[in-house]
Amino acid sequence: MLVSRIASACPSRIAAFVTLVAALAPTFSSPVRTLTAHSSHPLCFAQAQHHLQARSFHPSSAASPPATTPGSSSSSTAAARLPSHSHQTQSSHFANTMQIHTVPILEDNYSYIIVDPSSHAVAVVDPAEPEKVIHALKQLPKSDALNLVAVINTHHHWDHAGENVKFLELAATELNAQGVNVYGGDDRVPKLTHKVTHGETFTLGSIKFTALATPCHTTGSISFRAQSPDGAVDRVVSDESHKPGKWSYVETDVVFTGDTLFVAGCGKFFEGSAANMHHSLIDVLGALPETTRVYCGHEYTVSNLYFAQSVDGANSEVTRALTDAQALRAKGLPTVPSSIGRELAINPFMRVRDPAFCEARAKLAGVASDAITIMGELREAKNRFKRST
Ligand SMILES: [Zn+2]
Repeated sequence: MLVSRIASACPSRIAAFVTLVAALAPTFSSPVRTLTAHSSHPLCFAQAQHHLQARSFHPSSAASPPATTPGSSSSSTAAARLPSHSHQTQSSHFANTMQIHTVPILEDNYSYIIVDPSSHAVAVVDPAEPEKVIHALKQLPKSDALNLVAVINTHHHWDHAGENVKFLELAATELNAQGVNVYGGDDRVPKLTHKVTHGETFTLGSIKFTALATPCHTTGSISFRAQSPDGAVDRVVSDESHKPGKWSYVETDVVFTGDTLFVAGCGKFFEGSAANMHHSLIDVLGALPETTRVYCGHEYTVSNLYFAQSVDGANSEVTRALTDAQALRAKGLPTVPSSIGRELAINPFMRVRDPAFCEARAKLAGVASDAITIMGELREAKNRFKRST
């Protein structure tokens, strides 16, 4: 599916995608890497390895057994057609990274698949359209060796966690995945097995997750930061793939923000105040390294940037971001990921860090110029905003 979407969007993307997958292919075929036993958490490497042996992806509906070598795989992905010895010299560069696959679901939601190449462990973020996410999992390179161990929910809303029961049932029957852990910060998340609190960490193979409490959209909203152990690779990866416009990326430091932080926007304040959102966006997410990539829950970027232009019109970064986002959407491509640094520059709800921005907005809106007041005023203005065309 990923390849066909790319193919229909732009032929040149195929080459880019094949290059990326070729670079990744050796990491899938290499032996499982031994990690030092640093964690006894349920998602630790030892358990992932056990799961890998006990239950790999064996689609129950398949008439023939899954292929085990790249050359003989029945998968239709580009990776399946690549020789396993290609790009061997690059494998060490990507051994300690993670792969993020974007899966568009429902009207404008994004689910994400996270793969740890070193252990073959897999997690999914907000799989609210189970059939599509399961299908995407089956299309991954080496999907027969991958091992689904976790569902990660950013919050309890139906278009994020509402299909957990069905997803887990399908994962069991279609992927032979049993005992999948469900992480979230709210008891309203169906099938929740691990309720996390701010600062709590867990691992998926070699990937370290940190739960960041970011309440406001809902009281239990959690942003999940994911970091691979080899930060040195970040420079290489960033240079190659920082620009949005693909469906899959090699990453080392990302954050899944659900409906708290969008590209150039933020979620509605359903269960919190402007002070809560200010804390979540500025004190928590805004404190992450600027290179941290942002994977959000919806494709709202273009409409968010129209609003940003209306309140931050002199900001040339906003204008440029809108042009870029429109070009991507015209090709049917996602505008994720963004980065914390980019959001600090273009997102009006993060621009409240700048006193000059707040004072200008306060004068126009006739309100006080403190950042929390401006945060609330911007949210109300966005709720009312209609673009005049
Ligand atoms: Zn929501």
